[in-house]
Amino acid sequence: MTAIAPPADTAGIAPAITAWFRANGRDLPWRRDGFSAWGTLVSEFMLQQTPVSRVVPRLEEWLERWPTPVALAAVPAGEAVRAWASLGYPRRALWLHAAAVEITERHGGVVPEDVDALLALSGVGDYTARAVAVFAYGRRHPVVDTNTRRVIARAVAGQADPAPPGRVRDLEAMSTLLPVDATEAAAFNAGIMELGALVCVARNPRCAECPIRNVCAWRTAGYPAYSGPRKKVQKKYAGSDRQVRGLILAELRSTHHPVTDLEIAGLWQDAAQLGRAMTGLLADGLAVMVEPGSYTLPD
Ligand code: SF4
Repeated sequence: MTAIAPPADTAGIAPAITAWFRANGRDLPWRRDGFSAWGTLVSEFMLQQTPVSRVVPRLEEWLERWPTPVALAAVPAGEAVRAWASLGYPRRALWLHAAAVEITERHGGVVPEDVDALLALSGVGDYTARAVAVFAYGRRHPVVDTNTRRVIARAVAGQADPAPPGRVRDLEAMSTLLPVDATEAAAFNAGIMELGALVCVARNPRCAECPIRNVCAWRTAGYPAYSGPRKKVQKKYAGSDRQVRGLILAELRSTHHPVTDLEIAGLWQDAAQLGRAMTGLLADGLAVMVEPGSYTLPD
């Protein structure tokens, strides 16, 4: 028989998580006083699909080299792709460069603080726009990432895992818990993500250390198994077109000279897959053909 979770007592969730976060949150660059809005935007681009431990060193290098959007906008987009290096999903580097150009041209070099203005920038989706408005400027909005969704699914809905993402539903669920005060709301947004990253992890949550264990609906119900819809599983990286794109891009990054078809042919055995990967890189603007059979990073 499936256990039914009782309704959670949600009033205490935000204060408990916020107090826990202030005592236990990691010391990360984007949480330090004086960290710039540009730094927050760059960090959110990098964190979209890359773990914190790989982002921190690359972020510091990046901000040393390009401390403002104006500085990044002044160099060719290919330099952003080169510096992106091993962070993965390199289209983010092109979008970040395009956003830097837009901030320079439309906003006088200052990262905007309004969610709609942020959403109008290249590569900025709903999560990133809200995160910058909240964490860089202290605006009061719900910010929902994977970790937030998992904690709410467990603590409030009494389910082991969240249902597949649903923007309106997820924002409403977070809004219900959000403190009225903007400073507290920002701390709660960061705190619930941190709780999901460190304690309420996907496998083997550390409930004994959890500040909301006494009101968690999933724990109270005896940890019933998840029976709802599942999100799609991502394809394997090894052997995928994504891997081949990564190999070609690494070759383009490694030199300031054009890379030839002959050199690219030596990177991977399957010529058809190489062709598909190269076509994709050219279509995405991550590579340009300087003459037939010869390629570089974009200008
Ligand atoms: S008690 Fe356990 S399952 Fe519930 S929110 Fe805390 S860590 Fe997650």
